[in-house]
Amino acid sequence: MQEDQARQIKNQPRFGGIFENGGGFDKRVRLTSHLYDDCLEQYQEAVGNNLNGSVIKKLETRVSQYIGAPYAIAMNSGTSAMHMAYKLAARKVYGADTLKGKRVFCSDMCPIEQAMPILYENGIPVFIDVDDITYNMDPECLKKAFDIYPDTKIVAMNHVYGFPGQISEVKRICEEHEAILIENASESFGARVDDKLTGSLGDISVLDFGQDKIITGGLGGMLLTNVYSDAEVVRTWINMSRRNLPWNHTDAIGYDYRMNDLSAAMILGQLDHIDEIIAAKKKVYETYVENINEDLAYLIRTAEDIEPNYWMPFMMCDSNIDAVEARSQYDYSYKDIHGTSSPMEIVDAFDAFGADAAPVYMPMSEQPVFKGCELITIDEILEAGVPYNAAKSLFLSGTGRDASRTCLCLPSDLEMTSDEQMKVIEIVHSCFSKADIDRKAFMAVS
Ligand SMILES: *Cc1c(COP(=O)(O)O)cnc(C)c1O
Repeated sequence: MQEDQARQIKNQPRFGGIFENGGGFDKRVRLTSHLYDDCLEQYQEAVGNNLNGSVIKKLETRVSQYIGAPYAIAMNSGTSAMHMAYKLAARKVYGADTLKGKRVFCSDMCPIEQAMPILYENGIPVFIDVDDITYNMDPECLKKAFDIYPDTKIVAMNHVYGFPGQISEVKRICEEHEAILIENASESFGARVDDKLTGSLGDISVLDFGQDKIITGGLGGMLLTNVYSDAEVVRTWINMSRRNLPWNHTDAIGYDYRMNDLSAAMILGQLDHIDEIIAAKKKVYETYVENINEDLAYLIRTAEDIEPNYWMPFMMCDSNIDAVEARSQYDYSYKDIHGTSSPMEIVDAFDAFGADAAPVYMPMSEQPVFKGCELITIDEILEAGVPYNAAKSLFLSGTGRDASRTCLCLPSDLEMTSDEQMKVIEIVHSCFSKADIDRKAFMAVS
């Protein structure tokens, strides 16, 4: 953000008194970035072994024991792992190592990394809307999708921002239709459903260790399976489909998707801390829940049988009483209406004071790359890939689309102090008053 724009925001009366003398946060408050770096021993082992894969093996063993999945295959990214998951699923249900011409049901609210690999294999993504409580794949919409396309045999579901949804019901529906469930647990490492760890709930599951994930190796991913022969197939694919021969014998398309030992060392160095990381993240989440005025905005809710990893808590600004925010494909604007706010207004205010926030995923059904695909909502089938239409920017059909205009991710960085978090909350509250309203007067009446 330009300095003069930041100054203009900071000088609004509604933010008065949060910081002294027109200041902001001393150091940038990040969305999530915390990193344990006690991986020196693993790092030395990796280097001592000429980066020959020994630490990767250790990591695979550790993760498969932790999750309780018999086989874990480390890769260079979660996207690679998703790609291999689709390809493996295609082999299992179609006997072909490609999705060519086949439909895949995929949650609409997910990062592009989940949906894009369907296109690598020439598949046809069909986006499934999310429910309005967990913001994960809505089982009712999935049922409807199977009614429309009963031949579909592959389903991909994620756990949004580390907060799992109705995966048990989704799994049951998949079984009913003899479809394979790919569980994308990229954001939910350590989260549980019915006391079972995510990553153990799909027929094939995927983990991710990307730069901002709860456990990171800079980049990295993993595929989990219960089937030895499937694990061996994937291991061959990710190593250029080389056969175990003295020369480089290759008889099929392969990929260079292997992880490297240094990433594995980094990840191992953090795995020991997973419980304390989740406990600290939970505290950040609870502080938001307890202190954010529910009449203005509220945090994603959790259910009794679900224990999230609280990776990136997100908030709904559901008090919109009017169209306060409009987005085009490349730009946005918002109106300053007393009592309401919008994700981008809050993101801008945070930015001005030196904190990061982010709108939630742009729904897959709105990505231009998926033009011609479909979104199945509870009462409609909508065309995907149609550019943003400013006139339709509020009250969109589709829960995921609606969420993209009303929700935003709050900072949950473990480096954030409780003092800083309380200031973050004050900024949120102040956003709901008019730019020319004094904050103290506003807080006194609301
Ligand atoms: C991070 C992430 C991925 C993979 O990202 P990479 O950058 O390729 O490691 C996949 N799916 C989800 C849900 C993610 O959050």
